[in-house]
Amino acid sequence: MNEYDSELIRSILRSHQHEFTDGLANAEAVLLNTCAIRENAHQRIYHRLDDLRGLKNRGHKIIVGVLGCMAQNLREELADREPVVDLVAGPDSYKRLPQLLASVRETGDRGFDFSLSEFETYSDIAPQRVPGSNAWVAIMRGCDNFCTFCVVPYTRGRERSRSLENIVNEVHRIAAEGFKQVTLLGQNVNSYCHEQNDFADLMQRVAEVPGIRRVRFTSPHPKDFPRKLLRVMAENEKFCKHIHLPLQAGSNSVLERMNRTYTKQEFFDLVDEIRAVIPEISLTTDVIAGFCGETDEDFAHTVDVMQKVEFDSAFIFKYSERKNTIAVRKFPDDVPDEVKTQRVMYLNEIQREISLRRNRLEIGKMFEVVVEEPSKKNPQEWLGRTDHSKRVVFFDESAKPGDFVKVRINEAGTNTLRGIVEDQPLRALRVLANFTENNSACSTLYCTTQTCNTIS
Ligand code: SF4
Repeated sequence: MNEYDSELIRSILRSHQHEFTDGLANAEAVLLNTCAIRENAHQRIYHRLDDLRGLKNRGHKIIVGVLGCMAQNLREELADREPVVDLVAGPDSYKRLPQLLASVRETGDRGFDFSLSEFETYSDIAPQRVPGSNAWVAIMRGCDNFCTFCVVPYTRGRERSRSLENIVNEVHRIAAEGFKQVTLLGQNVNSYCHEQNDFADLMQRVAEVPGIRRVRFTSPHPKDFPRKLLRVMAENEKFCKHIHLPLQAGSNSVLERMNRTYTKQEFFDLVDEIRAVIPEISLTTDVIAGFCGETDEDFAHTVDVMQKVEFDSAFIFKYSERKNTIAVRKFPDDVPDEVKTQRVMYLNEIQREISLRRNRLEIGKMFEVVVEEPSKKNPQEWLGRTDHSKRVVFFDESAKPGDFVKVRINEAGTNTLRGIVEDQPLRALRVLANFTENNSACSTLYCTTQTCNTIS
């Protein structure tokens, strides 16, 4: 969502004759678009502000702005703690940024805007997208669920959806720009509702847009999965067979304290139903370890769900109090930090085994992969994504981001698969051999061409 918001901000500022620089050297202002969902997101911003303070102390005249959820949540407290900050604006204030910047520049006074809107969806702004493999489209903003640990309802306000026609028009523009994949975004994306249209109606209309080959969405809430939506996903191959289904905890009492509105059994039932309607689905999840009052017995329920459901991957985090949330007001943060750490480590260990086991099932299969970016380990290779959202590393001389290529999987790790584009196996062998030699690492490569089928 922040990437999408940054695209909106770029568009708003460009329309007011602001230009963007490649680095800080020529910049008159730097704007940090922030997240408040976990403490480490805050810490990263504080470190960045330290760097910017050093820059200002060395005489660089630059306006420092903090935008987004951290700005909205901490407000004046952020400015008080960080004198380097000149401008603070929340997620509903981006249209005011040109005026705020002008005012800070002209008066030297700090600028603030924390107003939350019941209506702002930025549906009249065309985001300035970075060309690539995927286009984000926020279909709604805010959230009404008030999970007790979560800051989003206070930083992004009440839930409001854009009109279906407005979204579909944006997807037509995206297709005309050359994007083949869209990801529909919302804090609670599957509760989308505008007039008589629900999320399934929107999905169907988006999939009808010519040129769009893949449709993803994130993040859904387990409470909003009517069978109609699952059928729509099952019946149209444009919908990626991947659902990110946040579990958060396995114990009923913890789920109740979190206000997640489902029980452990209801979560199991939903997973069964999803897998019955879409057997090839890949499921990923979010888990919070050490939420207020979580006992060893509660934690054992989370472990039980992880082992029984066997998610393809999971984001597992320690609970950290977020200012202004219901949990801060109602429940003591009473699980010791070392217990939280042990629980996170244990869940990660379980998940690593499950992910590896599930990824190994993909060896020998052919997938259509969207090319995303050069692999970080070896920039001669590409990183792409299957429609199950599994990351695949492969070599393809002629590929570029956004292309669709067919890759046969020949290696599986915990987080990434490795494969060979059907018509380029020998070149891929050479590239990999060169890479492993230079990195003093060993590798086994399964060559899956019709002619050899050997191990090198
Ligand atoms: S549904 Fe998601 S965004 Fe909304 S309150 Fe719960 S965790 Fe936060």
